[in-house]
Amino acid sequence: MSEINLGIIGGGQLGSMLSIAAKKIKIKTIIYCDDINAPAQNFSDEFIFGKYDDNQKILEFTNKVDFITYEFENIPYETLNEINKKKPVLPKPSINRLIQHRLAEKDFVNKLNIRTTQYTFVKKKSDLESLTDLLPGILKTATMGYDGKGQYLINEINDIDKMNIDFSKEYILEKFIKLKKEISVIITRFGNNNYEIYEPIENTHEDQILKYSKIPAEISEKIFNQSKEWAISIAEELKYIGTLCVEFFIDRNENLYVNEIAPRVHNSGHLTINAYNISQFENHIRAVCSLKRIPLKKLSNAKMINLIGNQIEPYRKNFKLNENEYFFDYLKKEIKNKRKMGHITTLFK
Ligand code: ADP
Ligand code: MG
Repeated sequence: MSEINLGIIGGGQLGSMLSIAAKKIKIKTIIYCDDINAPAQNFSDEFIFGKYDDNQKILEFTNKVDFITYEFENIPYETLNEINKKKPVLPKPSINRLIQHRLAEKDFVNKLNIRTTQYTFVKKKSDLESLTDLLPGILKTATMGYDGKGQYLINEINDIDKMNIDFSKEYILEKFIKLKKEISVIITRFGNNNYEIYEPIENTHEDQILKYSKIPAEISEKIFNQSKEWAISIAEELKYIGTLCVEFFIDRNENLYVNEIAPRVHNSGHLTINAYNISQFENHIRAVCSLKRIPLKKLSNAKMINLIGNQIEPYRKNFKLNENEYFFDYLKKEIKNKRKMGHITTLFK
């Protein structure tokens, strides 16, 4: 029996699913979160409520665990770096700092000769005046964005005045791509050239929020291979430990672009729980806690539907599931518009 205690910063659905996966391999989890209602406390062995700058609470948490990981990007670098001086934080805090800033993230990807959308940094409103060749474009906050939050579609320069944009924040402006498809590739890296990679997942967004994911993705062999190669290069270059997800765009001319990197387990990988021998969550824990790598085996094709806002309600009322259907309720206390409340995975031949 292992005696490993894993600390997880962040207590949302990803923290819950990490805790469930940890329990399966007899690893204890302690969640640290700044939300007293964090749903992951329903699944972890222990829960500590505290702010990310509460040094005392953070120290109490650090002393209890052997390894630390995190389930979302927007944690202050200083917090992760301080913890890392005492216990290993994986993925490394410097990786999180790089990826949490859209400009640094995209510059890093381009340096590897991997295509992204065209983009530029926007520090102040007047910067936008000379950027008409990037229109139509999407203005995105440089940090802290998720589920399409902090994004503005700009068709022409005059649109900006009609929108209530807070220019005390930094942004990037990114050219709008006529999308044919979106896919993601999830990889878990254990060390040098030592990784497990899942096949590309096809994703459909509604209102910039992920709605459906499925394997197999309906893509060409070229895109299948290229997306995996790019995900491997990114993980190797970062010397990443744990599970990472690369989100891609495919345009109408079959060009592949990296959209963004998530230094963590990812919503599109929920189907790996039922469709593979080892889920993205278990693999993340195995890598972070220096456990043995087990070769991946795909068990089934699968599709996943996110239940957003009140879409969860009918499923909570003793909904009859088929044998090949798996329902997850994140047990969030309050149903909110655009909030991810649960998901359903269906396996198929
Ligand atoms: P978030 O951090 O909120 O996930 P993303 O940059 O991934 O932000 O954007 C969310 C979604 O918005 C994407 O998955 C895609 O559907 C759409 N989107 C974002 N950027 C572009 C773009 N440049 N062109 C077309 N669609 C985009
Ligand atoms: Mg995204």
